[in-house]
Amino acid sequence: MRLSRALLQAGKGAHRWRLHRHWFNIDAASVGATSRDGARVPLPSSNWDKLAASAIAPYVQIRSDWSRKEVEGVYWQPLNSLVFQAALVHRVFFDPGQVQKCTLLSIKTGGCPETCKYCSQSSSYRTGVKAEPLMQLEDVLREARLAKERGSTRFCMGAAWRGPSQVGPRQFQRVLEMVRGVRALGLEVCATLGLLNAEQAKALKEAGLTAYNHNLDTSREYYDSVISSRRFEDRLDTLTQVRAAGIQVCCGGILGLGESHEDRVSLLHTLATMERHPESVPINMLVPNKGTPLEGSQPVQFWELCRMVAATRILMPASMVRLSAGRISLSEAEQMMCFMAGANSIFTGDKLLTTPNNELSQDDAMFRRLGLSGQSPFMDPRKSRLEQSEASLMQ
Ligand code: SF4
Repeated sequence: MRLSRALLQAGKGAHRWRLHRHWFNIDAASVGATSRDGARVPLPSSNWDKLAASAIAPYVQIRSDWSRKEVEGVYWQPLNSLVFQAALVHRVFFDPGQVQKCTLLSIKTGGCPETCKYCSQSSSYRTGVKAEPLMQLEDVLREARLAKERGSTRFCMGAAWRGPSQVGPRQFQRVLEMVRGVRALGLEVCATLGLLNAEQAKALKEAGLTAYNHNLDTSREYYDSVISSRRFEDRLDTLTQVRAAGIQVCCGGILGLGESHEDRVSLLHTLATMERHPESVPINMLVPNKGTPLEGSQPVQFWELCRMVAATRILMPASMVRLSAGRISLSEAEQMMCFMAGANSIFTGDKLLTTPNNELSQDDAMFRRLGLSGQSPFMDPRKSRLEQSEASLMQ
């Protein structure tokens, strides 16, 4: 889809632009629109961001036909240019002052039969994480209410199992109740439950699931070095079921598994050439877990993370880019650089499943210092920000 279509048309004169029926007077001090009755209407957020978005919009496309060489070209740009480009692209679809807060709860911890070499919950490794039963509905809803009070607009539930088929219908029914209950609170609901079949995906959709998280983790080429209990294709199959059921896809990767830059390019290529891009792309950094085979892994350099975030933003411009596991090791300045590079979502709460995460009070203080605000639930990430601006002007 080419977005340049009719988003902006140059007006007569260098300082007037027309966005559909509204004229934008562009000068150094202000960007605004003139309504039909002649009154000047200020745009709802930063003028300069709007100006940048309008300038770049004609050149931004949502593409699924990226060649591997093009992805490499994006990835390997000098970092300064890469971040600048990502920041511009980001403004076409999103308000850069908004970062969505999400909460991730482990609803069933430990004892997982899968062999992900990075995971403390796999029963294959002695990590000290004990297997626990599936949480009770009321306990989950209490956590969801708390998350909402604290500003989260998406609530994600993770279960450490191979998939609902492993545990049978009763437990899956309880998960469906959780989805219904969380959705009734007005929150976006995401779940990460492993491999799904078509029937399970349909049931989740009917219960009100907004998105399903199912990370590819790494490249197709490197996948077997990290996980032996399932194939890369198994993951893709589940993603197909999720899409077919009409659920949004949340799919990303983990840096620091021992993969090469080529693997990262390959992962980006797989994601960016999906027929429809994942609506959200979590970028994780390995937090080495004691007792796992990747316990002694080298930490990921910040600039590698930043490169991955920026490349993700450029290749999948309308997707939410989620700064996920490993954020706890980043300074505030580094997080700010990731937001600049197009990350627009974080997980709040002191734990991500079993992995330590930033404290809520620190995040609130960071938001105040950086002038960030949270994002409302159910924003349509495919709707360009320019179109949203127009909609708000029409009201
Ligand atoms: S990452 Fe998920 S699937 Fe893999 S071992 Fe951990 S809980 Fe199981």
